[in-house]
Amino acid sequence: MGAIIEQRARAIARDVATGARTATEVCQAFLDRIRAEEARVSAFNTVMYERALARAAALDGARQAGGGRPDGPPLLGVPVALKDNMCTAGVPTTASSRILRGFLPPYSATVVQRLEAAGAIVIGKTNLDEFAMGSSTENSALGATRNPWDVSRTPGGSSGGSAAAVASRMVSVALGSDTGGSIRQPAAFCGLVGVKPTYGRVSRYGLLAFASSLDQIGPLAHTAEDAALVLQAIAGHDPLDATSSAEPVPDYLAALDRGVSGLRIGVPRAFVGEGVDAAVQRAFAEALERWRAAGARLVDIELPHARFAIPVYYLIATAEASSNLARYDGVRYGHRTALGREDGLREMYDRTRDEGFGAEVKRRVMLGTYVLSAGYYDAYYLKAQQVRTLLRQDYAHAFAACDVVAMPTTPTPAFKLGEKTDDPIQMYLSDVFTVSANLTGLPAISIPAGLSPDRLPIGVQLTGRMFDEATLFAAAHVLEQ
Ligand code: GLN
Repeated sequence: MGAIIEQRARAIARDVATGARTATEVCQAFLDRIRAEEARVSAFNTVMYERALARAAALDGARQAGGGRPDGPPLLGVPVALKDNMCTAGVPTTASSRILRGFLPPYSATVVQRLEAAGAIVIGKTNLDEFAMGSSTENSALGATRNPWDVSRTPGGSSGGSAAAVASRMVSVALGSDTGGSIRQPAAFCGLVGVKPTYGRVSRYGLLAFASSLDQIGPLAHTAEDAALVLQAIAGHDPLDATSSAEPVPDYLAALDRGVSGLRIGVPRAFVGEGVDAAVQRAFAEALERWRAAGARLVDIELPHARFAIPVYYLIATAEASSNLARYDGVRYGHRTALGREDGLREMYDRTRDEGFGAEVKRRVMLGTYVLSAGYYDAYYLKAQQVRTLLRQDYAHAFAACDVVAMPTTPTPAFKLGEKTDDPIQMYLSDVFTVSANLTGLPAISIPAGLSPDRLPIGVQLTGRMFDEATLFAAAHVLEQ
């Protein structure tokens, strides 16, 4: 059977269901791996050693009582990690921010409940850029996570802890959240499959909100199949999230083997030409060629407004963040400043937020407040929404000529820790290929597409039509063969 931690999630679930392995044995193997690797990678904010083993024992007990069945729950005994911006009842949920120190959520996010209903074992909460604002995990109040492929480099962000945990096999699969690329970019940097589902596909109930019109939860996994398995478990309507869609969820595993014969892959040549690393260009060209050889047709498309996506994203995301983060005021939960006798409410708010938020979060709250303020609203926020509509139209036109749009996931492979921390604009520019999927709501996947000359993973991205994740999985699977 090979080493447990090397196995695919699907194989683990099958072995646990048939009784070939126990959930306890699986859980122990991954916890041992965490003990060995975590010091090198720093992927976790919390590891739930005892809780995970107790849950594994309970699953084993239930399975013994019910007898071995190969058609057990789809994630039976599969160890998963959650980005630490998803609420877990009674388990610290920090968003890697000082302001949520000591916060114990009274309930679990819908995705957590669904993963557990599918038999998964939550093993830990992973590090992120504070409130998911960043592209490298360096904005975490708890310190940066390192890329397991090269620990002098970033795993990407903001779901860098989830990506590093899966890439170093400390868990089988993980969930991230993606507001502007935070699942796909770390997936690309760590050699994984990462999926940003269609807006509304996955419930956001229990996700600490960053930018509510952009946020989506999705899987990070070693293969398209494992990512499909996880998305299957978490997707679908949730009455607790008013933006979650009632669109039926198809069978993603069944779609995996559909192939790409006749699939029209749109390539926005002009957009992809600028500022992209040579190794990434090469990997992108090779991926396109492999799809073509497998029966896909490449068509040239244009996305005339894609070059405005970064400014549009950083206006809308900061505006929404400034509103969402107003709730962290020291009154209801999390950190509150020490109060002196003379201090009033105003001092309490000011000092709590000053002490609780890091530099990048403050920068965004200020930017967002500015672009929403009277006199600037029309010039910035409204204008950004108008260009967002033009970008949506670009994709609508493109999808008349093609079925998916291909781009690199990132302009470069993983950069060095510290390389972009002094220059927020450079950091923001690394999201150039990912933010459009969030602004349009379209689903997108990052797929491993080989290594750079210095042996760093490179990712290729496909964006699909609304609710057509199935085609993305099928195309990803072709590239994996
Ligand atoms: N890097 C982008 C940002 O800093 C995207 C973050 C995300 O998707 N959460 O906002």
